Amino acid sequence: MRVAVFSAKPYDKVYLTQFNQDLDLDLQFFDNGLNNQTVVLAEGFNAVCVFVNDVLDDTVLTDLSKRGITHVALRCAGFNNVNLAKAKELNISVSRVPAYSPQAVAEHAVALILTLNRKLHKAYNRVRENNFSLHGLLGFNLYGKTVGVIGTGNIGEAFVNIMLGFGCQVKCYDPLPKQQLIERGAEYVSLDELFKQGQIISLHCPLNASSTHLINSQSIELMQDGVMLINTSRGGLIDSKAVIHALKKGKIGYLGLDVYEMESDLFFEDHSATIIQDDVFERLASFPNVLITGHQGFFTHEAMQQIAETTLGNLQAVQQNRQIEARFL
Ligand code: NAD
Repeated sequence: MRVAVFSAKPYDKVYLTQFNQDLDLDLQFFDNGLNNQTVVLAEGFNAVCVFVNDVLDDTVLTDLSKRGITHVALRCAGFNNVNLAKAKELNISVSRVPAYSPQAVAEHAVALILTLNRKLHKAYNRVRENNFSLHGLLGFNLYGKTVGVIGTGNIGEAFVNIMLGFGCQVKCYDPLPKQQLIERGAEYVSLDELFKQGQIISLHCPLNASSTHLINSQSIELMQDGVMLINTSRGGLIDSKAVIHALKKGKIGYLGLDVYEMESDLFFEDHSATIIQDDVFERLASFPNVLITGHQGFFTHEAMQQIAETTLGNLQAVQQNRQIEARFL
């Protein structure tokens, strides 16, 4: 099976090549993301392997189908970038990596919380300049604080467990509550109640029609003054302009982002020598109480291994017609 691997960074090549050693998949790596302009590169392949910011809308899927692509293998968990209805109509099957080291993303969310709270990024720079002043570095104890968790799937559950370990009161919202989390001490509440009670609120639900801009001016209004908001899920969960307004007023006291609604134009590339044209992103990055990382929550050795293994397993199952074993959507 000939597979065109899009958005292939050097680290993707390392892990995919390593796990392909015992398989007979013909992988060809393209640095380019998949979109309307680059879809031509899929000519002559049987499947495409894609990542979070590749575009699989009506137009691209139709073009892929005309070029003979019958399978899309996502090497990520989220699938908001794929028009599944169109893929089905075109008889293109879609697989993903439903669970890979959820701890990778959960631990990154905790890293954002700890860094924002104890200002490690500022302390690191100060000490390097022999400035040992503690002025402006005051934090708060996590112990006893109320943490709201939206979405308690694989990543949310791992995150809840860590925060329970810190001695936090954990309030969750998920349409499918998990009994084991209740037994461990977490409590499920309504979304409004979570917004009202959470001193820290962390997002771990998928992006879909009902969750788009879940964090907006109305939901922010319900939150506590000075709330800490963490998003390691998908950028579209947050209305960035509403968040900027709340940061300016001090309603949001801390913001930690690993994802951003318009990240596809920015993330995973080095733009250090260019002028960023996205004024919303630049405004967000200018606040002293905002910490942004470029979608690196998944980026651990363990997660990369699991992503490569599952993605190639999905492709091989498709190749060998072992449909039942692929993680289809
Ligand atoms: P999952 O499917 O295991 O869990 C998602 C949970 O969200 C489910 O329990 C579901 O019931 C719940 N949910 C669905 N809609 C909801 C809503 N409107 N409100 C509250 N809960 C809702 O997914 P996961 O593996 O835990 O991943 C969660 C998200 O994390 C993914 O969708 C993806 O967007 C994101 N993610 C980010 C990174 C990263 O590198 N930053 C990596 C992997 C995944």
